[in-house]
Amino acid sequence: MDLIAKHIAELSPSLTLSITSQAKELKKQGVDVLSFGAGEPDFNTPKHITEAAIKALQDGHTRYTESAGLLELREALSAKLSMDNGISYEPSQISVNCGAKHSCYNAILAVCNPGDEVIIPAPYWTSYPEMVRMVGAVPVFVETKAENGWKLTPEEFEEAMSPMTKMIILNTPGNPTGSVYSKDELEKLAEIAVGEDIVILSDEIYEKLVYNDNEHVSIASLGKEVYDLTITINGFSKAYAMTGWRLGYTAAPKEIAKAIDTIQSHTTSNPTTFAQYGGIAALNGDQNIVSDMRDEFNVRREFMLDRLRNIKKLRVVEPQGAFYFLVDIEQFGIKSVNFAEKLLSKQKVAAVPGIAFGSDYTIRFSYATSLDVINAGMDRFEEFCNQH
Ligand code: PLP
Repeated sequence: MDLIAKHIAELSPSLTLSITSQAKELKKQGVDVLSFGAGEPDFNTPKHITEAAIKALQDGHTRYTESAGLLELREALSAKLSMDNGISYEPSQISVNCGAKHSCYNAILAVCNPGDEVIIPAPYWTSYPEMVRMVGAVPVFVETKAENGWKLTPEEFEEAMSPMTKMIILNTPGNPTGSVYSKDELEKLAEIAVGEDIVILSDEIYEKLVYNDNEHVSIASLGKEVYDLTITINGFSKAYAMTGWRLGYTAAPKEIAKAIDTIQSHTTSNPTTFAQYGGIAALNGDQNIVSDMRDEFNVRREFMLDRLRNIKKLRVVEPQGAFYFLVDIEQFGIKSVNFAEKLLSKQKVAAVPGIAFGSDYTIRFSYATSLDVINAGMDRFEEFCNQH
């Protein structure tokens, strides 16, 4: 008898987490590792947020909440979605979950039948395909091109469709690419999805981290028809440096929202109660902290872009959002895991192999780290590239 269910046995563990933990392990042993693996801001959660959670505990908010999360939090989210994103969701259409990762999973579970196809533009965030497989649905990958800024074109979307297509996953700003879809680009994709009745999972977790003249656009804001097919996903991890709090949310048309709430009521019951009070403080507090962190990321992004562009042989697409560089390594003729392992063993630089994102000739560097680390790491990386 196989102990593990077939579709679960075939899943692979999160490679992004595995590289970060390898680097951490080496550091513990005293090795001078410079890590670019981080998928989380290196800032601490702002104090007024932690204080609100501490107060919640002290005030005795230690019991279950509504399964979709505290009404006060969902009201604050409803106001945020209206003000920041131009989308109108009632609190009953919002479900607060244990991180946006959990939100994505709830959304996929609510919508996809076994055998349904889900279009995922690659390079993609590492967990999407595995979540799709976990519910028995089938990921259909579309390789986007660096020259298109790693963005899905309407033609590529149409080509990937089949009668089994149920959902498309869009992630803007994107991890690992840093690409940001414009309003015009989203309108074209929305038109196709609406024409074919395809549900859109719109993962907007990096919404606050956009640079240059880019503007984050929520696809659900583009009209009633696309709104009716879209699940908007966001969270607190990246905007408010709250990764460990595990707080994300879905906002969806009523029928889907109800299904997500039912799933959650039978699985986690609700996200951690005192964390939700932190979420309320984050939304109602000073938003300058968010733009301050964005500005700091931007300084690092520009510095690193300059360093990478000066390395011979490298081709780099300038990221417009999030906090990653996806570096093309095809010219070295070494696949990503091998490349990342060599880089770690020879130069003690940790970066994530692109295979984790469905792109085996790329490597991802996160710049959620200090300028000093970026500077020293780029010295080592440059040396490595010059030797290969
Ligand atoms: N979506 C994307 C694209 C991400 O990169 C991440 C985290 O790395 C998440 C969702 C999940 O965020 P969390 O579960 O911490 O809210």
